[in-house]
Amino acid sequence: MPELPEAETVARALNRVLPGRRIVKVTLRTSKLRTSLAPLKTAKLAGRAFTAVYRRGRYNILALDDRRGLLLHLGMTGAVSVTPVAEPPRKHEHVVLELDDGFAFRFEDPRRFGLLECHPLNEKGLPAVLDFLGPEPLTDDFNGEMFYCAAHHHHIAVKELLMDNTVVTGVGNIYATESLFAAGVRPTHRTDRLSHAACDRIVAEVKAILARAIAAGGTTISDFRGVDGSEGSFNRELVIYGKAGTPCPRCGTTLRTVTLGGRSSCYCPKCQR
Ligand SMILES: [Zn+2]
Repeated sequence: MPELPEAETVARALNRVLPGRRIVKVTLRTSKLRTSLAPLKTAKLAGRAFTAVYRRGRYNILALDDRRGLLLHLGMTGAVSVTPVAEPPRKHEHVVLELDDGFAFRFEDPRRFGLLECHPLNEKGLPAVLDFLGPEPLTDDFNGEMFYCAAHHHHIAVKELLMDNTVVTGVGNIYATESLFAAGVRPTHRTDRLSHAACDRIVAEVKAILARAIAAGGTTISDFRGVDGSEGSFNRELVIYGKAGTPCPRCGTTLRTVTLGGRSSCYCPKCQR
């Protein structure tokens, strides 16, 4: 599933091509992705222009010139592209927005867990449906003290806390696994037993790893592709994610897995405590 770096990669790429472009025609080839596409039919998008594209958590907001915006989430297998209108439709292409420059924004999604909805935006440029999201991990609002307070307010495994979007938004399985390994903290470590120092290390590693992943254009897992069709390259830098049963790159101990909240999690029983 695309995580924060992938959403950031998409936002940056779309923000280079969409602002200033006007929508001239909307084509919907299916009735429903994760939610119904019917509201897009009556949303009067034709004639509206894009003003900016940005990210909040794992969502993208494609802001329009009438204080509304398209809320985009790639789900498991969603991908967007901006290519010439004349290009033949791809197999799982569900939404096409023809633009005034001969190009078209296309949303394809074989498994249809993605989301594309039109919402009014508040003064921060965000739709109310995203109000539940916690702080962005790359801002100062996500810091060691705040994470320590959240940790001691909960009594769960630390990896579950990291993946809770109301605590910090956009840290999914891949980056939680990598950050906890780098911080030397076991995914199952109870949050109410975390020290200040451990919370500081976890927060620092989450920020460092997300920043590196954004610089690499994201991770290519679950069919993620950038807007131009390129693959993110961060998967080459993954240290332990998906490597259970192989030797720990730091100490050589065989990496193990544990299941938390239905997701399997890789860890080193020696390096992570
Ligand atoms: Zn190890």
